[in-house]
Amino acid sequence: MAVIQLTDLQLQNKRVLIRTDLNVPLDGTKITNDRRIRATLPTIELALDRGAGVLVVSHLGRPKTGVDNAHLSLQPVADCLRVLLKRPVELIKEWHSGLDVNAGEVKLLENIRFHSGETKNDPELARSLASLCDVYVNDAFGTAHRAHASTHGIVKYATESCAGMLLAAEIEALEQALANPKRPLVAVLGGSKISGKLEVLHNLKSLADKLLVGGGMANTLLLATGVNVGNSLVEKELINDAKAILEAAEIPLPVDVMTSESIDAESHAFLRLTDCIPSHEAIVDVGPETARQYAKTIAEAGTVIWNGPMGIFEIQQFAEGTRQVANAIANTNAYTLAGGGDTIAAIEQFDISHRLDYISTGGGAFLEFIEGKQLPGIEVLQRDS
Ligand code: ADP
Ligand code: MG
Repeated sequence: MAVIQLTDLQLQNKRVLIRTDLNVPLDGTKITNDRRIRATLPTIELALDRGAGVLVVSHLGRPKTGVDNAHLSLQPVADCLRVLLKRPVELIKEWHSGLDVNAGEVKLLENIRFHSGETKNDPELARSLASLCDVYVNDAFGTAHRAHASTHGIVKYATESCAGMLLAAEIEALEQALANPKRPLVAVLGGSKISGKLEVLHNLKSLADKLLVGGGMANTLLLATGVNVGNSLVEKELINDAKAILEAAEIPLPVDVMTSESIDAESHAFLRLTDCIPSHEAIVDVGPETARQYAKTIAEAGTVIWNGPMGIFEIQQFAEGTRQVANAIANTNAYTLAGGGDTIAAIEQFDISHRLDYISTGGGAFLEFIEGKQLPGIEVLQRDS
């Protein structure tokens, strides 16, 4: 996918507006994880180095109309950016009557979703944002699956538009894994519900050479083959979809699982063969033999794409399957790409982030990309559009 990149454009003395994804987790006004802010620094710094004045735009949370949204102010983000960039970062609350930004300056616009037109892709909001800049840069992969005023509509009115460093890196990593993978391509899919993963399964069943499944979503696949999954999380209404996928692709299912009588930190995990699950027990993890088989396949892969934990890894005694598979992904010589909010939490828990080739910053956007969908925020930046 050929998108125009920031590095292609002249930026000297230009006003550059960068749409970032600074939707960070907050505890009151304290940022509990600044990963998203750090991820966007290369783009801001490149624009500054090339002589631009920078306006940064982001959303934070989901402001509601008619209530006080003061807790969703980007002020804590402005303070954090000031420290990381080592230069003043002013938070701008009102910019409709115009806004100056000089070369070397950085200004952060207040939460763009305080304007109701943002999520409606309102042309007026898109136009007034575009009027603030000479160059529009989208670096918000996390919202690239949404056609909003600051991710999509603005491109129609901006003089020049391009992808920032982070968005370009995301596209490159995803294309390396999906469009032109070194084979065999192994997809590792887990997580809680199959409903959120059906389209991913659909797309990857033809793209991938091997699909390895675990987590709660595998329960519905097991049920579809007639296995008694006991008290496990299942979505019975999707059993026909599960059957259709199993008919269309050869998917090895877990041969053993860990089960528990209840899902809490005190409960014991039992090792069961998949066809011998007592009816009062629920599957909480893949078993050691399954994890060993998956690890072997991962070791022989050319490319691995991973979304979704293999079990309820948040609870120590149910975390072993996810840990084994995560370590296999860390150790393989294959090109490795992972994404998904809980998958990233697992990667951090097992401390393997530095051993993967790429970790996507997008949750929903990552999933939609691997579902094979065109993301509106990326599509609109294509060279031939
Ligand atoms: P991601 O955010 O990476 O896309 P999901 O949101 O789909 O992943 O799923 C993550 C959640 O799935 C985790 O919180 C984990 O506890 C849960 N999970 C994994 N295995 C099971 C299982 N067997 N039963 C119920 N929940 C599970
Ligand atoms: Mg999740």
